[in-house]
Amino acid sequence: MSSNDIPGPDSETALRVKALESLLLEKGLIETSAIDELIDMFENRLGPWNGAKVVARAWTDPDYKDRLLQNGTAAIAEMGFEAVQGEEMVVVENTAEVHNLVVCTLCSCFPWATLGLPPVWYKSAPFRARAARDPRGVLDEFGTQIGADTELRVWDSNAEVRYMVLPERPVRTEGLNAEALAELVTRDSMIGVSKVASPD
Ligand code: FE
Repeated sequence: MSSNDIPGPDSETALRVKALESLLLEKGLIETSAIDELIDMFENRLGPWNGAKVVARAWTDPDYKDRLLQNGTAAIAEMGFEAVQGEEMVVVENTAEVHNLVVCTLCSCFPWATLGLPPVWYKSAPFRARAARDPRGVLDEFGTQIGADTELRVWDSNAEVRYMVLPERPVRTEGLNAEALAELVTRDSMIGVSKVASPD
């Protein structure tokens, strides 16, 4: 065993969370089962795999895709994924002509039900500022090439409306079923900072 195996002291945030949790439990304001339930929800039931299933279904079921683009909230709920905070979901489609990018310029609003918790960079001030001002530059940093003729649309999520991108179905996926397609879909492609890569 090396010194690297010994866990270091908790971060200040972790200590604060522990202190808050003990206090709430002691005062009888919450129960451990409620905390376990919330952690289970965020770790196991909310995550980008939900969004990936929605995308794969839209790629393979044209009627579902129509419903998804018409009323994202209802079509996503149809798959069993309900909004956590009662937010409305709007799904925007990437095509050869239009590329959509999602940001929350104010804070970090994110579609939890379909994408889980936001990545750290999504919450960062540079991303929030630059996605609106220089979206092409941001995509470039993510290694995403967008044609000069492609229109770029930036969607600003907020507490009431959360956007999700329906990425373009990659080439050489004709033989794949929805389950196999879902495995190709990444969280970043549903934020619009990257595309879905073809399987190799
Ligand atoms: Fe926000």
